[in-house]
Amino acid sequence: MTEPRLYRAPPALLAGRNILVTGAGAGIGRAAALAFAAHGATVVLLGRDQPRLETCYDAILAAGGPEPVIQVLDLKEADDAACGALNAQIVEHLGCLHGILHNAALLGPRTPLEQYPSARWLDVIAVNLNAPFVLTRALMPALRAAPDASIVFTTSGVGRRGRAYWGAYAVSKFGIEGLSQVLADELANTSSIRVNCVNPGPTNTAMRREAYPAEAPHGNPDPERIMAAYLYLIGPDSRGCTGGSFDAQAR
Ligand code: NDP
Repeated sequence: MTEPRLYRAPPALLAGRNILVTGAGAGIGRAAALAFAAHGATVVLLGRDQPRLETCYDAILAAGGPEPVIQVLDLKEADDAACGALNAQIVEHLGCLHGILHNAALLGPRTPLEQYPSARWLDVIAVNLNAPFVLTRALMPALRAAPDASIVFTTSGVGRRGRAYWGAYAVSKFGIEGLSQVLADELANTSSIRVNCVNPGPTNTAMRREAYPAEAPHGNPDPERIMAAYLYLIGPDSRGCTGGSFDAQAR
């Protein structure tokens, strides 16, 4: 099997494919949306901040990519009604969905569990874990309408080994690894949908700078530099690869 982080994507890898990216307005999600469009995908840009999504939309058009779709949704509010309506819109206007990159997340407080505010816990779990479940479930009809499709969840090193003070964020990423494994197992013999996790590794984004304020930001790669694994997992070259959890960078 190809090592995802070493993959070299052909220029037209995603031509004719429709891919939804959550948290597409900033950081890794924005870089992924731009990379997917640069490889031919029509990207559904989902996020809570319309101006940021519009900036990403403009950047995709300026680079000559297919016209994207903007979907404003605060994932804290993601429910069956909102996500079901999105599924109906995608089926009506695009026909089907070839991939979802679940990328949006909240860091939340970095504090001992004894002091962790319960309301913030609920917010982090809502955005990082509940929303990917609700959104995936609602979008299954659009995914099943594609000849093959890929669901990519975003994990983290602290979702594989717990670490002090990472609170709900770490727990949500453990949950994401579990969600991905359960769904992959359920879909393996009943569909052509593959399901995997990607861990971006330390990447120069607002979240990383918030988590490690003392770190030199440019010691970590910019999001554009870690796209190989994302392109591999979202695109058709990863057909047959399911239930895995991969690193976008060498450890
Ligand atoms: P950023 O904070 O830079 O970007 C997060 C994105 O998620 C933003 O676009 C943000 O929107 C969006 N988002 C947050 N909350 C919501 C919400 N309620 N509804 C809709 N969108 C929301 O983070 P990164 O780019 O660094 O992180 C991307 C993913 O990678 C995350 O899953 C993160 O856990 C993971 N990760 C990142 C690492 C790193 O070093 N950067 C390391 C390991 C994992 P808005 O622009 O409105 O704030």
